[in-house]
Amino acid sequence: MNQLLDSWFHDVVSALAYSVGEGRAETARPDLQPPYNDLTRFVLNQHARMAAYLRAPLMAATLGFDVIGILRGGRRFHHLSASARLRQIETWKESKIGFQRDLMRYFESLALLELYGRQSNPHANIVSPPQEFSRQIVNLPSAESRFEIVVIGSGPGGAITACLLAEAGRKVLLIEEGEYLSLESCAPFSKDEMVQKYRNGGQTVAMGKNKVAYVEGRCVGGGSEINSGLYHRTPPDILESWRKEFAVDGVTPEEMRPHFEACEKEVSVSLLPGAAPAASLKLHDGATRLGWKSLEVPRWFRFAAGASDPNTGRRQSMTETFIPRFLKAGGKLLPRTRVDRIRQDVGKWNLHAAHAVNGPIRIAAETVFLCAGAVQTPALLRRSGITRNIGNSLRLHPTLKVVAKFSDEVNSSQMGVPVHQVKEFAPRFSFGCSISTPPYLAMALLDHPAQAREVAQVWPHLATYYAMITGEGRGRVRPLPKIRDPLVRYNLTVSDRRDLAEGLRKLCLALFEGGATALYPGITRCPQLLNHDDLSQLPNALPSGLTNLMTIHLFSSCPMGEDQSKSATNSFGRVHGFTNLYISDASLLCTAPGVNPQGSIMALARRNVLKFLRRNPR
Ligand SMILES: Cc1cc2nc3c(=O)[nH]c(=O)nc-3n(C[C@H](O)[C@H](O)[C@H](O)COP(=O)(O)OP(=O)(O)OC[C@H]3O[C@@H](n4cnc5c(N)ncnc54)[C@H](O)[C@@H]3O)c2cc1C
Repeated sequence: MNQLLDSWFHDVVSALAYSVGEGRAETARPDLQPPYNDLTRFVLNQHARMAAYLRAPLMAATLGFDVIGILRGGRRFHHLSASARLRQIETWKESKIGFQRDLMRYFESLALLELYGRQSNPHANIVSPPQEFSRQIVNLPSAESRFEIVVIGSGPGGAITACLLAEAGRKVLLIEEGEYLSLESCAPFSKDEMVQKYRNGGQTVAMGKNKVAYVEGRCVGGGSEINSGLYHRTPPDILESWRKEFAVDGVTPEEMRPHFEACEKEVSVSLLPGAAPAASLKLHDGATRLGWKSLEVPRWFRFAAGASDPNTGRRQSMTETFIPRFLKAGGKLLPRTRVDRIRQDVGKWNLHAAHAVNGPIRIAAETVFLCAGAVQTPALLRRSGITRNIGNSLRLHPTLKVVAKFSDEVNSSQMGVPVHQVKEFAPRFSFGCSISTPPYLAMALLDHPAQAREVAQVWPHLATYYAMITGEGRGRVRPLPKIRDPLVRYNLTVSDRRDLAEGLRKLCLALFEGGATALYPGITRCPQLLNHDDLSQLPNALPSGLTNLMTIHLFSSCPMGEDQSKSATNSFGRVHGFTNLYISDASLLCTAPGVNPQGSIMALARRNVLKFLRRNPR
């Protein structure tokens, strides 16, 4: 039965992939021509990577879509003629029913990602990091082992924690669910990167009236391996609000400064050595003309002395910085291992984990640091029966994208990450530039089909920008019985929807000032905007269910503080009610910081682990 369903699903996906591909085939572009078997394969593989609670309904909806072809054309969709298939796809894309639009969007975006990635992404090679410390890496763990300290999760929070513990002479095991890969394993922001280094192939979503797509890293180094490297310290007013509202000790700007400075030095936070990309300068010029505060944001990139080419830098992710330091100090790294739950025993924790090859393993530890990120940390704690103020207060930065067209060329295959952000209206909302490769542009233009079809020719004139709000909304993280991935829910407030609309309008204004000739917001049925007057067509509050929101910033699911009515841990990450269980990752941030969060996560991790070492001398 299952085989029959799989084969039926394959046929429908193949018909959908071919329809999307044929819609973009151009005589002048051999790389966009059929066959489209690679599109089908990519969509099927991505479907297999989805959370199980999304995978099954998506398959059922796809098969339902196939059967509806009988009503429309007398045959199942995958047996219809090419033109009849296109008509059925268009009808679902225009549907008033959200799940019909979402289904078409899902297939179209994945097929386009593969199609437009064909030329720019040569086949990726898995590259392991240098073997210098190979003896410190546990490739085949024994069924049972014991360590003084176990750190779960190797993103910025976990890597810094593990590194400083090992350098203090502690016996540390760092466990990571994903693979240990070097930066060279795939091109940044490519489809291959999604497959190798993102959780669920980058297909994660916070459910709610208006869904918010989000992505997380799942590899040694966590999000630091896939991110843009844009660095901010936590704004002083945010630190002050955490002190007042959550009674957090030790977070005045003076107390945090040494931690910011040490992390900035380690990851080489710096400005570009040469000129910023043209797309970045367009936003900056437009904002500056309006008298708004716009700045080049420094990044964790290392440039050779005297370098003048901004594209020559190397991202200082955790696998380039704290992980090698950790291994050099004698720490042990166990990749490809997922901790499922933890159980308290007399004077120790028992970890139930599963290694990708060896299967179930048990690890005992005197102390556990949980650094699995803002979604997985609360999910793991709740699966383990620890629930007080855990996973009830997820915050994120809801973000809306807009593609801008310029008469001159602003984009190129060497563009890299645009670095300017407009902070005039922060913390309520800010603007910045997004990744603008052809595959990303094709996906960002799904709401504007006429323009989308031109991506292959005009992409050097296109760039993607975003408006991001700090947001009042909250979410929950809940594990589901017998299902690996947790359910994440998030609701925007009315004022969030107004702030997003106002943020979008102001971003469009800045882009027109910067010379944009047309703008394409990520709102279903929103017309293209050709001049200032067209801005009146934008809604005053973003329409629920029609706005395509995303985020890459998630936090606050286990906030810290001495106010035990609101917080999950004390001011330094020790989980309330336990003596040897700590959290050190994005979950601890009491509220959304309104700026890119990794700077806050790194500084807090350093502060907390140094406090632990002072309180727990050997
Ligand atoms: C595409 C993208 C771009 C971004 N750009 C920026 C930017 O420019 N600037 C910025 O400041 N921030 C940026 N961010 C956000 C930043 O990367 C994250 O805030 C940061 O990585 C979070 O750190 P963390 O330590 O809390 O968790 P993570 O980095 O998420 O690391 C958690 C790790 O734990 C592992 N793990 C989870 N569960 C388990 C388990 N059960 N067992 C074992 N291991 C587990 C995961 O696989 C993961 O590797 C970006 C994020 C993304 C995805």
